[in-house]
Amino acid sequence: MMDSEPVVQGVGWDLSGEYPAADSAEIDADLETVGTLLADIERRNVALIPLLDDAASLTIESADDAIREAREIFARIERARKLVGDPETYAECCLSVDSQDEQAQALLGRLQSINKRFDELAEPLGQFLDLAPEEVVESYLDDPAVAPARFSVEHSRRRRHELLPLAEENLVTGLGEDGIHAWGRLYDQLSGTLTCEVTVGNELRTTGIAEAAGLMQKPDDKLRENAWRAINAAWDEHAESCAAAINAIAGWRLEMCRKRSARAGATVHYLDAPLHANRIQQETLDTVLKVAEEGIPLARRAALLQAKAYGKSHYGPWDNRAPAPVADGEAGGPIAYEEALDLIAGAYGEVEPAMGDFVRMMAEKNWIEGTVGPRKRPGAYCTGFLKSRTPRVYMTYTGGGSDVITLAHELGHAFHSWVMRDLPDSQRRYGMSIAETASTFGETIVRDALLRRADSPSAALDIVWEEAAALVTFILNIPTRFEFERNFHDARAERPVLPRELKTMMSAAWKKWYGESIGEGDPMFWASKLHFYISGLSFYNFPYLFGYLFSLGVYARREAFGDEFYPRYQALLRDTGRMTTEDLADKHLGVDLTQPDFWRDTLAMMEPRIDHFEALVNAQAQS
Ligand SMILES: [Zn+2]
Repeated sequence: MMDSEPVVQGVGWDLSGEYPAADSAEIDADLETVGTLLADIERRNVALIPLLDDAASLTIESADDAIREAREIFARIERARKLVGDPETYAECCLSVDSQDEQAQALLGRLQSINKRFDELAEPLGQFLDLAPEEVVESYLDDPAVAPARFSVEHSRRRRHELLPLAEENLVTGLGEDGIHAWGRLYDQLSGTLTCEVTVGNELRTTGIAEAAGLMQKPDDKLRENAWRAINAAWDEHAESCAAAINAIAGWRLEMCRKRSARAGATVHYLDAPLHANRIQQETLDTVLKVAEEGIPLARRAALLQAKAYGKSHYGPWDNRAPAPVADGEAGGPIAYEEALDLIAGAYGEVEPAMGDFVRMMAEKNWIEGTVGPRKRPGAYCTGFLKSRTPRVYMTYTGGGSDVITLAHELGHAFHSWVMRDLPDSQRRYGMSIAETASTFGETIVRDALLRRADSPSAALDIVWEEAAALVTFILNIPTRFEFERNFHDARAERPVLPRELKTMMSAAWKKWYGESIGEGDPMFWASKLHFYISGLSFYNFPYLFGYLFSLGVYARREAFGDEFYPRYQALLRDTGRMTTEDLADKHLGVDLTQPDFWRDTLAMMEPRIDHFEALVNAQAQS
């Protein structure tokens, strides 16, 4: 049956408005312009580099020449960013649809060295703006072409005291390739080649880790558990290697914090960098975690209900991505692609007609890739082209309820970028903590619409299941990761942590958050979770928790604000690239994110939804 043409699929996207092909003359021309721009930046950098060692003593007069050059460099960086960014996006789009596309692969290879040079050449301007005295920076910003970048310049300057001298920063970056990043690559190598032995039915099957992880999304509880045990057994054999990697990655960061502290004359904490990147304050994070702790009973209740739906008394670490148990053919058939688009446009349009029009425009312009193809990459995402300022949505649409939700989610991202399309580029980049606002919003309104048309309790359970699962993930699993990572960094500051200790530490984190809802924790989670080994990013966890609660909080304001909601929502999205998250919430929602009220209201909104989930699970148990 799987060999024939799929019954339901979406339409292919149209990229021809950007470039005709990955090896086209148009791309060559853009990259040639990039080359010219970079050479020009290199020449102009000569006016900045000699000043960096003593940048703090600059005055408007002594920096006069440099300020003028800095503005010219800024303009070229912004222009080059588009011309190098669009071919890259184009190549990634091609490879998503055909992972074997050799022309796209060759293009990506070409872009690698251009990107490296670009980063290096952009560094002196960044340092100049970080290190120069305020009056010099004010003078620089006093120009209509540069003024829109004020927020990003000021935000970057908040960490200026930590900067090491340029030569040292460059040395660290250079050594990092075979230092901290090598450990990250080693982990990727390991996870890409590691195999495990999973019991499938009554045969023992050897699979890669990724394939086994795929089995953990199946409705067969025993199979999921087998896959999880097999994955953990495989990682356990490499516990020493993983421990070496995770200790080295954290050790590198802690050493950098020590060096930066010495330079700053104040403590630079390991959380400073991730908080800054997410544009939130420590106080806000503390409050979010505190409220997540208050949400533990509700989330454990959801976890236990998920377990109950599978006829068991405890939730297992292998249940994280479990689907709703398969109802006996009761759930409705696939939803045709056009029907899904209508449904989404309808739900979006209920918030504001312009939002529904946006969904229809995305479909009419063929900016959505939804076909089924043998060489397509898995997953879904939203991307966009910088020159044309047009978004694209990528997915494989097969008509399941979760596909409709995924489409609604990605269209939310696209809408976010669409409402920002007329803003200067320097105001269109936002942090991860805020990135999921529009997508979660779109997801939630469409889920509610799907729920209204669900014609049976099992169809309804399918939809509410994901909502309950998200609560468990965000309120229990994400804080577990944060708890471990924080405790681990504290312990690592004393000495490298042994594999045995890492297991104990991880199990304790599971126990703290999941408590009585689980029969056992996941002692190998510190090795099996890729996020702990992303060498370029630390604490790749709390932004998820923040983003989840923040976006639900925005959704919750829809009723309260009534007719005023849409203009406020749109204004909020437009400001995401030029404000801290606290300022954004204060201005558009009138709430103080450092205080618990907003977060508590948001969690309270989930309570009736979990009540509904409970009723559906109980109904299913009785049928
Ligand atoms: Zn998303």
